[in-house]
This record gives sequence, C-alpha cells and structure tokens, in this order.
Amino acid sequence: MSNKFKNALLIVDRICKLTGINFSELEILKKPQRIIEVSLPVLMDDGSLKIFQAYRVQYNNIRGPYKGGLRFHPQVDLDEVQALAFWMTIKCAVVDIPFGGGKGGIIVDTKKLSQNEIERLTRAYVRGFADFIGPDIDIPAPDVYTNPQIMAWFMDEYSHIKGKNIPACVTGKPVEIGGSLGRDIATSQGGFYIFTNLLTKIKIKKQDISIVVQGFGNVGLNFAKLAYAASYKVVAVSDSQGGIYNHEGLDIEKIILHKQKTNSVINFDNAKNITNEKLLELPVSVLVPSALEGVIDEHNVNKIKASIIIELANGPITSIASDKLFKKNVIVVPDVLANAGGVIVSYYEWLQNLQHFYWDINKVNISLQEQINNAFYKVWQTKEKYNVDLRFAAYIIAIEKIVACLKIRGI
Ligand code: GLU
Repeated sequence: MSNKFKNALLIVDRICKLTGINFSELEILKKPQRIIEVSLPVLMDDGSLKIFQAYRVQYNNIRGPYKGGLRFHPQVDLDEVQALAFWMTIKCAVVDIPFGGGKGGIIVDTKKLSQNEIERLTRAYVRGFADFIGPDIDIPAPDVYTNPQIMAWFMDEYSHIKGKNIPACVTGKPVEIGGSLGRDIATSQGGFYIFTNLLTKIKIKKQDISIVVQGFGNVGLNFAKLAYAASYKVVAVSDSQGGIYNHEGLDIEKIILHKQKTNSVINFDNAKNITNEKLLELPVSVLVPSALEGVIDEHNVNKIKASIIIELANGPITSIASDKLFKKNVIVVPDVLANAGGVIVSYYEWLQNLQHFYWDINKVNISLQEQINNAFYKVWQTKEKYNVDLRFAAYIIAIEKIVACLKIRGI
C-alpha cells in the first residue's frame, strides 16, 4: 500500500507550525472534494474484452475549474492520483492561474496496446467521465504516457457526446484542432526559464555547469534539448531502460535520433551505459528528475552530489529526502513551480479556445516566461522571509491564496 498522498499532505501542517499561521480552513485542503472511479470495458484487437480501472480526483475548485493531467501507467492507483491532484491544486495557485486542481489516471501499460486499443480506451474514459468534465468544470491534459493524439480523441469523443465542438474541454491538443503553439514543450520550456533565472540569481556561470537529466520522455527530452541548444553541458540522460554518461558532454540531438531508432538512449556511441540509480549519484552540479515520483528518498539522498535539483517530474523527492537536501544546502526548485510551464500554457490554450482567438508562439513564450519568472521571484522572496526551502515557500504562497479565497467566498 503506497503512502504518496499521506506524505504529500505532511507539508500542510508543517507550514502552519513554521509560519505560525493557524488556518482551521486548511482541513479542507487535506481531502479531495470528489473522487470518481469507473471500470472501463474495452474491446481488444483480438476480439476479447478487457476491463480497465480508471480514476479522476477533483481535488479543489475554490480558485477555478479543476485542472490536471490524465496519466496512463501500470502503477497508477487512487493514492497516487490523489497526491497528484493535490499537487495540481498547489501548482495552479503558486503560478497564479485561475484553476483548482485535479488529476486522472488509468491503470494500463500502453506499451502492450495497439494505437486502436489506446483510442478505444481513451474514448471509453471520456464516456465514463463526461458528466464530470467540461470547460468550466474540469479540464484534463497530457501527463505520463498520454500525448496530443490522446487529447485529440478525448476532445472528439466529448464533442460527440455534447453534440457540438468543445475544444476547451481538454488541453494539450494538436494545434490543428485548437491546441496552443508551444504547449508540447511548455513544461520543459518553463523549467528552463526558471533554471537560467536561478543561475543568474546565485551567480553561477554556464561553463561551471554540468547537467544530468533523468527520464527522456517529452519533458526530460525537451529540457535536455533546450539546455544543449543553449550550450550547456548535459553529461548524462536516461530512460526506463537505463542511462548514458560522458563527463565531457553528450550530443543531445544525436541521442534523440538514436532513441527514435532503437527505442532507448542506452548503447550510444561516445558514452558509457550506467544504471538509473548511479546516474542520480553522479558528481554534477544540476540534476533534473523528469520521470516518476519518489526517485530520491531516504535510501539514496546522502549519495546525491548535485547542488541544484530542478524537479520536472511530479514528486520525485520524498519529504524526508527533501529535508536532508535542504540541510545540505542543495537548492531544490520544487515540482509545483519547476514543472508548472505545462499547466500555464494549458491555461493559455483554454483561453484561446474560449475566445476563438489564437496566439503566435512569441506571445505564448513571452507570457510563459513572465508568468513563471514572477512566480519564481515571489517564491524566492518568501524563502528569504521565512528562511525555508523553495518548496515550503511555494506552499506558503499557494496556501495563503487558497485560504484567502475560502475566507472571501465563505465555506
Ligand atoms: N500533467 C501536467 C502537470 O502535471 C500538466 C497539467 C495540465 O496542463 O493541466 O502539471
């Protein structure tokens, strides 16, 4: 039985103690407002019928409609989806977009399904949850192992059910059907803006930086690509099959081609294969965990040598490990800020859909940069004020905003 949700909530009480703020209203934040669980019957290509377990957790909508991704993964469970939905609630408040938080998931290994089966599964999900979804209610988006094509099927099925086109029911769509320019790489782009901002703030020069990116899905790959294009030295990358390392730096563009051909980054010329565990412990300055939760915990935290960690994954560091890193003066930019670029551009996509007015890529990127950098500065100021780590600072900001809404609206 995993404890991700319980662990995710620990910080709420600690913030009250630390700051002296005593919000009894915060009890509301310790439970999702609604949990929906549906069994989805899906016809397989061989004619058999399979039942998939699916969830949507609508955590809190005090600041706006529920917002958050839809994850397809064999390790999805209700506990994980609740933690992820809670984090979305915090994330939207930290970066000041008018959404609450939610998350969805299906227990499925998409690597074992055909494209047709994934399409039928997606459409079944939409039919199962359609009454609870909508532009003003709850707006899903991509997450681990879901992509623009899946969002397109989502939008199509939902529009059929409602009898008209409703692109704003989901974000992260292909641009042809109302997706936003820049949404595909927005999580990485936002993380990269924060990363360069941080380096300026703590006065570290580019030539002194070496980067490890753990995870080479959409988020990790694009962060590595942006860093490489800006002439940063990326020394190691990994995917679920393992990692590769060259202390002199890797050619990320070539690795992307290698992964397209072989399905993995491993066995790349000019680099040695290493395990994912060893990759996290490399003697580098910057570590960018970009895959799943809990990869840095009490067992390996003392072996981490990076002095900066940018959490592009959701929840890659457990709370015990996070405290230890703070004591070791490691700067951790927390997920609720570092990976918020995705949901920020999702917000822009939703706005564009509602207004039927589409932005060019410059407008998207300039707006993203301004919005995420503003959030970064506020979190940094709060960290100085309370002498806490950036995670605590981000939560203080988010919780104050959520509680202000609760008080003004009345419970
Ligand atoms: N799944 C992404 C996240 O965890 C994006 C959510 C969204 O765009 O709604 O932030």
